[in-house]
Amino acid sequence: MLAGSHLLFGNALALSASSTPLSAFLTGLISHHIGDALPHIDGNIFRENEHDDTFLNVKQWPIKLWVLFLLDVMLAVVVLKFTVLSAPEKIGTSWRLLFFWASIGSVLPDVINFTNLRELLRKTLLGKAYLNFHKNFHFKISSKSRKGKIFFAFLAQSIVLLLSIITLLGIVAS
Ligand SMILES: [Zn+2]
Repeated sequence: MLAGSHLLFGNALALSASSTPLSAFLTGLISHHIGDALPHIDGNIFRENEHDDTFLNVKQWPIKLWVLFLLDVMLAVVVLKFTVLSAPEKIGTSWRLLFFWASIGSVLPDVINFTNLRELLRKTLLGKAYLNFHKNFHFKISSKSRKGKIFFAFLAQSIVLLLSIITLLGIVAS
């Protein structure tokens, strides 16, 4: 999943399941890896070789990936703006605080991969194991019947996003 979808999925799970900043962060973090494992669309659809699972450097992104990325982020910004960020405050921990920590948790694994944090983690055994887990616990589109698989991934991700949006709308209404 790209950043916007991770934000929507992570916030939907975290805001319905957690009531403290720490649990919102952890739920967001876990949601990232669940989102990665589900069939989904990201830079993978532009990859020719299914075994090539290196993270593309932002400078190497094809224009098509940028368009996909911007659409994905725009959807998340619009939905989050009109749901959790416009929700009337509730008693207890504020929506905004939970949203903040859930958002950090849900995009952190990819932020690590695109920054120097990756090199830092690589130096430790545990960090290395985590980087490998992030890379391998990931849905891949194989080159066999590629078009069908991309369509299936698109459909599956649309359902996940729709359910996330309905959940976030429910939070505003409650
Ligand atoms: Zn990821």
